[in-house]
Amino acid sequence: MDAVHVTKPFLPPLKEFTAYLEKLWETGIFTHNGPLLNQFEQELQNYLGIENVVCVSNGTIAIQLAIKALELQGEIITTPFTFIATADAILWEKCTPVFVDIDPETLNILPDEIEKNLTEKTAAILGVHVFGNPCDVERIHKISQRYNLKVIYDGAHAMGVKIDGKTIFSYGDISTVSFHATKLLQTFEGGAVITENKEIARKLKRLRFFGYEGRDIVDEGFNGKMTEVSAAMGLVNLKYLDDVILRRKNLYERYQMFLSPLKNISLQKINPQSFNYSYFPVIFNKEQDLFRVESRLKEVNVFPRRYFYPSLNTLDFFPKKTHTPNSEKIAQNILCIPLYDSLKEETVEMIAKTIVDLM
Ligand SMILES: *Cc1c(COP(=O)(O)O)cnc(C)c1O
Repeated sequence: MDAVHVTKPFLPPLKEFTAYLEKLWETGIFTHNGPLLNQFEQELQNYLGIENVVCVSNGTIAIQLAIKALELQGEIITTPFTFIATADAILWEKCTPVFVDIDPETLNILPDEIEKNLTEKTAAILGVHVFGNPCDVERIHKISQRYNLKVIYDGAHAMGVKIDGKTIFSYGDISTVSFHATKLLQTFEGGAVITENKEIARKLKRLRFFGYEGRDIVDEGFNGKMTEVSAAMGLVNLKYLDDVILRRKNLYERYQMFLSPLKNISLQKINPQSFNYSYFPVIFNKEQDLFRVESRLKEVNVFPRRYFYPSLNTLDFFPKKTHTPNSEKIAQNILCIPLYDSLKEETVEMIAKTIVDLM
């Protein structure tokens, strides 16, 4: 069997992509506010039902731009159970990440822990919708109002997720998303910054283009632009997104059927109304079980990944130390098994049965 990795990018019909490339050859416009970028932003806005989608070069830059646009300084409360990019973006913007613990079932930041870790230096909350599972946005909103804090959501995994029919990206002051090749909607590399605030959106557009407003340089900007090739890939892929989510849902439910009865593992607590089926994490009771499953799967050419490992608060280069037992335990015992639209049902069953046999 060909190697099965934790994910594989969705590939649209090549002809649809090359049709856009032919346009590029005609216009000679490759980047910077080109026609395909504008079209992609417009179509994302229509799809999501929100204004002000600002596409950028990747999902990490998107977080940095969000922090810059809100002019944050000091401490930003965030989760240690996320991809390293979330916390690196905070450091690169000269702020201090303060890691607070997560809910062991939803895997998201705990509102009570946010409140416990507030100081005079706290400027913002940076929540992550882990594996596309929405944070407790209502409670986080209340906390932010009470203590006058900004809220950013790293929605790198959360493309297409809605709460009561409303896009998840409408919560907080700013949301970000990643369109990296391994993410649900991919543009090779790419991302977007999303806000309901028009002024902030204008600022974000300046910041991604060296601080220019027209011919004047009015902000300390940098280069965060998305290329036309990426926008083209996004335009093609967006048309297939709903189909892709449906196929993933079907495979996710198949895994669930086999794995949810097992006593020695647990699965992320999700709400099917607010989910995009982008990952399938399995949480073992002990790391030894994780290793056993990992090595057995490797023998049959299946390569799950330890998302996310380690818990970021354990890394030396983050200055502020906190203790987050749930995150540390989960990070040590969690394994994401393969899930992508072109994965075969038989492969899902084979992987699931392998785990069932070992547990
Ligand atoms: C992938 C990811 C990012 C970074 O996105 P890139 O487009 O790869 O820069 C940020 N946060 C989380 C949670 C991610 O998974």
